[in-house]
Amino acid sequence: MRQEAIYARQSVDKKDSVSIEAQIEQCRALAKTQEPLVFQDKGFSGKNTERPDLKRLFEAIRAGRISTVYVYKLDRISRNIVDFNQLYQTMEAYGTEFVSVNEKFDTSSVMGRAMMQIIAVFAQMERETIQQRVKDNYYYRITDGRWAGGPAPYGYKNARTENNVPTLKPVPEELNLVRAAFSLYDGTAHLSLASLCTWLYNQGYRTRKGGKFVSCTLSRIMQNPVYVQADQKLYKYFQTKKIKFLNEQEEWDGSTSCCIVAKKKGNSSLSKYEDMKEQSVYLTNIPGIVPSHLYISVQSRLKKNEQFKRANSPSALEELAGKLKCASCGHTIKSYSQSTNMRPYLSCPGRATHKICGESYRKVNFETLQEQIGREIQGYLDSIEGRERQKQEENRKLETRKEELKKELDNLIALAAKGGLTAEVLQAAIEERQTEINGIELKVQMNTSAVDFLKVNLENNSELNFYHGPQEHIEYGLLLMEQKKELVKLLIEKITLHSDGAYEIEWSL
Ligand SMILES: [Zn+2]
Repeated sequence: MRQEAIYARQSVDKKDSVSIEAQIEQCRALAKTQEPLVFQDKGFSGKNTERPDLKRLFEAIRAGRISTVYVYKLDRISRNIVDFNQLYQTMEAYGTEFVSVNEKFDTSSVMGRAMMQIIAVFAQMERETIQQRVKDNYYYRITDGRWAGGPAPYGYKNARTENNVPTLKPVPEELNLVRAAFSLYDGTAHLSLASLCTWLYNQGYRTRKGGKFVSCTLSRIMQNPVYVQADQKLYKYFQTKKIKFLNEQEEWDGSTSCCIVAKKKGNSSLSKYEDMKEQSVYLTNIPGIVPSHLYISVQSRLKKNEQFKRANSPSALEELAGKLKCASCGHTIKSYSQSTNMRPYLSCPGRATHKICGESYRKVNFETLQEQIGREIQGYLDSIEGRERQKQEENRKLETRKEELKKELDNLIALAAKGGLTAEVLQAAIEERQTEINGIELKVQMNTSAVDFLKVNLENNSELNFYHGPQEHIEYGLLLMEQKKELVKLLIEKITLHSDGAYEIEWSL
């Protein structure tokens, strides 16, 4: 007897993807028989047909054992229209019906079959939009797992796979340095790039030319994701950098590393890592040797190092520019520098320019201040969800109290009607309660708009559009400077600074 079959596939665990179990359950609900056969490929992408259970399913179909195949969505079978058509034709040839839970149509009718073809075309178009963003053939070619060519990064040699695809061959001694550099720089607080270079040299590590590494070479090595396991965590990190992805999110499963390609040839690799908006990232065909969390943490240290170097630029106050106010006179605090190789110091224009203020901010260390405030912002972000709940809870309590007061008013009026209260007492009692009710209504409205304000502003800000709601974790330290600026603009009204470095943050909400 022919049996019904369910096919489910999930490439990686994602918040927005439907789990294999849920897919199977939904298919089971549509199945006509009690015990359909279940075929499932966990951890396989739909871009090709190299999937063990898919192969088993089609062996069963070719053996004439399957009456109907149920899937949750068309793209579970294949994301590629050529593959899909081939598989579908096999099903037709063996009289196997095909039912998709999500695309509800009956493939036993002509209309249903036509619908299915159209949907399959759209599914493929969706996949291709990612690739169409970069029309260049070169980009297209590298999305199928390869090394795009060019000089091999430190730690590797250019090589070819068995199928003659370009790849990289590890140079173990060199990769040891890469590992050592990452873990030392991350694990040793206060270790500067320069002292890391010296340490590595003393340990016997050499450049390819046999010399000592210099800070910028080492920094470039540590910025290169070709050493890193390209998993979902790294994908999300690059998402915040607004880089263009040449592979789909589900392909970022940690099995390979990734590589950044600059849009314009001839970009120096330093700027390549600084502003990623113009760059694209693709998955290589070599495994990563550094875990993504280590890479991300090293990037934030490297960035701090950069920021220190840039502290003398006109926008030295960075994301806090315009927000720092003098506690004594209220003027907006500015930064001044005496010479290019000296760290800038904070100063109140009320003192320096208008001569109306006696406060000096020379002892305030800006980097420390920036770090402290960064931590407070992180704390604020981490508590958004809790704060929303708290406000909603508060509103519930206020509404309950309002109902009580309304009942009391009714009772008072009833009592007065029976002649049990004098007019003066009644009026005073009503006024007292009415005032409280008005206060409650105002507070409820403020709570509601506070919750909405954050939601609307965070979710609709084009700089912050990676934020999808209060459950999303934002790592403030990893944001781009312009994103930090946007966030500070949104969250902080002003920061009142005292000459001893003490400060109070006035949050917008
Ligand atoms: Zn002042």
